[in-house]
Amino acid sequence: MAGAHKIGSLLFCPTCGTLLDLPKDSEEFVLCEQCGHEEPASSYENVEITTTSHPDAFPSALRQKRKTQTKRHDQQDMGTLATEKCPNCGYSQAYSKELQLRSADEGSTIFYTCASCKHGWRVNN
Ligand SMILES: [Zn+2]
Ligand SMILES: [Zn+2]
Repeated sequence: MAGAHKIGSLLFCPTCGTLLDLPKDSEEFVLCEQCGHEEPASSYENVEITTTSHPDAFPSALRQKRKTQTKRHDQQDMGTLATEKCPNCGYSQAYSKELQLRSADEGSTIFYTCASCKHGWRVNN
């Protein structure tokens, strides 16, 4: 008796080529539904059963979404804190920001923003 054709983990009927079912636990033969050929269950012993991995079994670490970091710009860049007396409220510290408005030889203008009352003024160097 010719053995069944094996393709991967599948067995095909040697007579008609029909895909044979896997033998049940107690069965010694697998009956071909097409031609009635009886394939011994032992033919399946060496068949490699390929287990299909479940998609959810994929490493979760690789699927973890990176935390999107949104930089907050809600705090305005007022410059560096300097010791400057506010002409509005008299507070001793203000944020200074030097801006080169005109050409270099005309000097720069320093903008001050009071750290207390947010009053703004500028000083020409
Ligand atoms: Zn058959
Ligand atoms: Zn002030």
